[in-house]
Amino acid sequence: MTDLNQTLFDRARQVIPGGVNSPVRAFRAVGGTPRFVKRAQGAYFWDANDKRYIDYIGSWGPMILGHGHPAVVEAVQKAVLEGFSYGAPTEREIELAEALLKLMPSMDMVRLVSSGTEAGMSALRLARGATGRSKIIKFEGCYHGHADALLVKAGSGLATFGNPTSAGVPPEVVQHTLVLEFNNIPQLEEAFALHGKELACLMIEPIAGNMNFVRASVPFMKRCRELCTEHGALLVFDEVMTGCRVALGSAQSVYAKSLPGFEPDLTVLGKVIGGGMPLAAFGGKRAVMEQLAPLGPVYQAGTLSGNPVATACGLATLHEISKPGFFDALSARTQSLVDGLKAAAAKAGVPFSADCQGGMFGFFLLPELPQNYAKVMTSDSPKFNELFHGLLDRGVYIAPALYEAGFVSGAHTADDIAATVQAAAEVFATL
Ligand SMILES: *Cc1c(COP(=O)(O)O)cnc(C)c1O
Repeated sequence: MTDLNQTLFDRARQVIPGGVNSPVRAFRAVGGTPRFVKRAQGAYFWDANDKRYIDYIGSWGPMILGHGHPAVVEAVQKAVLEGFSYGAPTEREIELAEALLKLMPSMDMVRLVSSGTEAGMSALRLARGATGRSKIIKFEGCYHGHADALLVKAGSGLATFGNPTSAGVPPEVVQHTLVLEFNNIPQLEEAFALHGKELACLMIEPIAGNMNFVRASVPFMKRCRELCTEHGALLVFDEVMTGCRVALGSAQSVYAKSLPGFEPDLTVLGKVIGGGMPLAAFGGKRAVMEQLAPLGPVYQAGTLSGNPVATACGLATLHEISKPGFFDALSARTQSLVDGLKAAAAKAGVPFSADCQGGMFGFFLLPELPQNYAKVMTSDSPKFNELFHGLLDRGVYIAPALYEAGFVSGAHTADDIAATVQAAAEVFATL
């Protein structure tokens, strides 16, 4: 039988670099042919060969209700009939802003944009504009979109700033970006001692989903907050992935449980808040947000920002996930997946660790959960690739790279989880 995914991939590579519009989709890390999606419904999608997969990517997080949730489809259909885009303000933008502020009281105001990259880049400009400072801290393994200043890896020491991780990013552009090790308190303290007064912000994924799933420890987060406050730098939470995904109130609400009163200064959102449409946001306290154009000197704009179809999709999604019990059920289902995988790996004698929060999970072919990027990268990559393809053959689609998180949706049933654990058990037995 002809593999129609392969046919499409061959054709795609003629006209799209690498055949994909975002690199990880190309399966470079795991090898093999990317699955071209024909359609999706609930917890499943079907590829070009009409093979069904249980989907644990959910568009890398946004599809928290599963695909084609009726209430969301209805809201989008209604919005489409009223026009695709106006370039003028709408009431729905206010409604979405109000909904976000209600979920995350750390924000008094929010600005809507179209992608997480754009939101992160704008938050960074705002932090620099509001503080009048240039330097920033980011952490190794955290991804904040592909803005130039954030495509950077650690330099040779704390006194030296970062090196670009992409061609086309001039070293001068990242010379103000200091890259530190995640969860390393002494290094954080040293960096603030050296550069504290020049720091505009510290940007962090509180639960880092771009190195699979690594929590910032509570003591580490506490120090991040204290040091930022002490030195007048802004604490920027990149919750593009964790926002309305790990909890209704996002990761900040999770940390506030251990650290009463805890709040970031700026929050960057995307993914879930758009429900699968291009929509993202950044927000914070009024005094900072009022630095933005047209009120203040920090320029930021977007032709499609606050798009009426995207805001309808986002609002309907937020409405559904705010219903009583939604997150409890989602968390329990995700936990059951993690528990099932752990038990299956233990039975097969495969070194394995896993963690989850809300509808987001991660697992490692390591005996213990790693605390930073270097540790994540010690995970057994050939074994991961075998696991990935073993699951794929059995109709289970997880992220095609060992440094990516996974996502469960409200549409995943107990049967889906059981089938996934069964498939994993079969593959574990061969590792
Ligand atoms: C996905 C992601 C981004 C980038 O969002 P895009 O919409 O892909 O530009 C930024 N930060 C984090 C934490 C992300 O997970």
